[in-house]
Amino acid sequence: MAIILDGKALAAKCKQEVKKEAESLARTPGLAVIIVGNNPASRVYVNSKRKDCEECGFLSEEYALPEETTQGELISLIQQLNVREDIDGILCQLPLPDGIDEEAVLMAISPEKDVDGFHPMNMGALLVGKEGFLPCTPYGIMEILKEYDIDPKGKRCVVIGRSNIVGKPMALLLLQKHGTVTICHSRTQNLAEICRTADILVAAVGKVNMVTADMVKPGAVVIDVAMNRNEAGKLCGDVDYPAVKELAWAITPVPGGVGPMTRAMLMKNTLLSAQKRQG
Ligand code: NAP
Repeated sequence: MAIILDGKALAAKCKQEVKKEAESLARTPGLAVIIVGNNPASRVYVNSKRKDCEECGFLSEEYALPEETTQGELISLIQQLNVREDIDGILCQLPLPDGIDEEAVLMAISPEKDVDGFHPMNMGALLVGKEGFLPCTPYGIMEILKEYDIDPKGKRCVVIGRSNIVGKPMALLLLQKHGTVTICHSRTQNLAEICRTADILVAAVGKVNMVTADMVKPGAVVIDVAMNRNEAGKLCGDVDYPAVKELAWAITPVPGGVGPMTRAMLMKNTLLSAQKRQG
């Protein structure tokens, strides 16, 4: 039976450390969160970010804009936040309503305050191995691996999913740590066969039970990024958890694995920004 990689406990520890470090700063770190429209899932995420800020002792500002907000109005708000001394991080909750170009909005956020790590400047920094904000989900996964002494060096790593916010940066971070990395996606042939080669398997697709036990090498480390709802409406990942945990060496649960660490890394990035901006 696999070791359960407890992201929830690690996230609580990370946030405690962030809070302690923030207390030593002359000015409290500040995070601005923008939400446009009435997406219920986005509302839940924004509420939890506010709670995290409270836990870490951060200033938290929320801008809840109506569905009919124009791209120009949104970018104008971001520009105001870009020059605010007391704001270290700016986050625009995705997805945005139809008619707003997400890329243009993400580009408008100053790379110095892009604590989500989605700006092409920060993405580029990751690609070439320079300092920048790391996207929170893959960053959190690397912290989980570190906490449990799982070193990707020389390991076969397979990442299922190639999105800009999870799959691609995840693969780059594993590569940076000297893993031998394969990225799979919807057009990959022989997916099961490739997955079976993985010492570290990361599933970031968004399909219930798509990673079955026959796709996992006995003794592998399995990281389940996805947040799906099953037929009973229960939160679950991509991995057939009950079956895979019997043969993996270690596995992240859903909930309680990657999700809490994503939130904790947002707090860490905001702290890093505040530290940099305060010299
Ligand atoms: P996304 O942008 O929809 O990307 C999904 C990826 O899965 C795509 O690259 C897609 O391939 C690939 N894919 C789809 N069907 C596949 C198949 N049958 N076989 C192999 N690959 C397939 O999603 P995302 O934003 O990366 O998020 C992925 C999952 O993680 C979602 O469930 C999301 O809710 C969750 N998530 C969780 C956290 C967290 O904190 N835990 C954070 C972010 C996201 P193509 O590129 O070819 O279409």
